[in-house]
Amino acid sequence: MSEIYDYAVVGGGIVGLSTAYKLTLKFPQAKVLVIEKEIELSAHQTGNNSGVIHSGLYYAPGSLKAENCKTGRLELVAFAQKHNIPHDVCGKVIVATDEKELPFMENIFNNGIANETEGITKINAEEVKQIEPYVESIGGIHVPCTGIIDYRATVHKLADIITASSNPAVIKLGEEVTVINQGEISELVTTKESYKAKKMIFCGGLQADRLAKKDHVDLKEKVVPFRGDYYELTEKAKHKVKNLIYPVPNPDFPFLGVHFTRMTDGEIECGPNAVFSFKREGYSRTSFSLKDTWDALSYKGTWSLLTQNPKYALMEYRRAFSKQLFLETLQRMIPSLELDDLKKGRSGVRAQLLGVSGETRDDFRIEYKGNSIHVLNAPSPAATAGLAIGQKIVDMIDE
Ligand SMILES: Cc1cc2nc3c(=O)[nH]c(=O)nc-3n(C[C@H](O)[C@H](O)[C@H](O)COP(=O)(O)OP(=O)(O)OC[C@H]3O[C@@H](n4cnc5c(N)ncnc54)[C@H](O)[C@@H]3O)c2cc1C
Repeated sequence: MSEIYDYAVVGGGIVGLSTAYKLTLKFPQAKVLVIEKEIELSAHQTGNNSGVIHSGLYYAPGSLKAENCKTGRLELVAFAQKHNIPHDVCGKVIVATDEKELPFMENIFNNGIANETEGITKINAEEVKQIEPYVESIGGIHVPCTGIIDYRATVHKLADIITASSNPAVIKLGEEVTVINQGEISELVTTKESYKAKKMIFCGGLQADRLAKKDHVDLKEKVVPFRGDYYELTEKAKHKVKNLIYPVPNPDFPFLGVHFTRMTDGEIECGPNAVFSFKREGYSRTSFSLKDTWDALSYKGTWSLLTQNPKYALMEYRRAFSKQLFLETLQRMIPSLELDDLKKGRSGVRAQLLGVSGETRDDFRIEYKGNSIHVLNAPSPAATAGLAIGQKIVDMIDE
């Protein structure tokens, strides 16, 4: 007789591991299984993101993002303090560089007040300079509760905790779930074995829609991948950024705009941009997958998005291949930056759930289907909110 797990979690990113962790806390006697298709945890979005602990000021009041970003952030910082995970609540500035941005910045500030984001203040250009001396702006917002963290280390700590308890969870790496058979006792078939579980939780990130389809969830939207490339500041330019410097984001798009981030290892990253990607899990500018490209380009939503914003899409594409254009974007905030201050960095790919009319689904989305729960949309700030999302899933199961 093969073992019957109480809970099988598919996906070894921060949402999957946070969910498994919360399950072991809530149901200490339960048998918990985590299945990850890669040979290491955090191989995709979680391990290739900006490493920012977001404050929560951007998100629509009352949304799952607003609620879970704040509770998740507070819990994440406490977790990092307790377990010595590299992190720093260093604060950030959002800076306006053009008069046209001021009304949008005002909206963000008011949103932050509505979301009760701790300590946010409007600051003038001089005050911005006191925090970030190389920034030229016409004013900004100081957000003291934003921070930086090593998300890979966070996920590894979660894994260590759940596998070291007296009733240890099991983590299977290098096994892709290929078939899902729901029943009173459900079956998950992987590329290596098959497992039985009473409840299944799918946290598949860039593959969330495909896992949902395998489980016969009636999902109208599709995941469309957007790659984000980073540059790093060279040694001679590192002093130009102290912590985190963000532009006022374009309100028409779901991304925050190219920004400066001090990482926990001391490097300064510039990025990420947001370019349509021809491969869901492809991390170079020329990555290509026929399956992923066909999936995205045969979907009406992708064309609707690209044709609604052709100038933006083209500009992003040109900038992905032009260091000079990338530099010009960064110079809007720090004009003294020069071309040889930048060296090529890494890339990450965002899973963006897209509606048929090209509308980006902004909020987190978590749905039931029989004995399954599917995390269908967990874009940024889901790394910050991971522990809160895990708690939400456990509460859904408990109810
Ligand atoms: C460039 C970039 C920058 C970002 N910056 C930030 C930031 O600074 N702060 C922040 O809070 N958020 C940020 N985000 C968002 C954040 O990283 C994601 O929201 C979060 O990591 C999502 O976690 P996840 O566990 O849902 O997905 P993932 O980390 O992608 O994990 C999903 C896992 O599921 C596995 N999987 C998929 N299909 C299967 C299958 N069939 N069988 C087994 N395993 C499977 C995958 O291999 C993967 O490991 C950023 C994202 C990107 C891409």
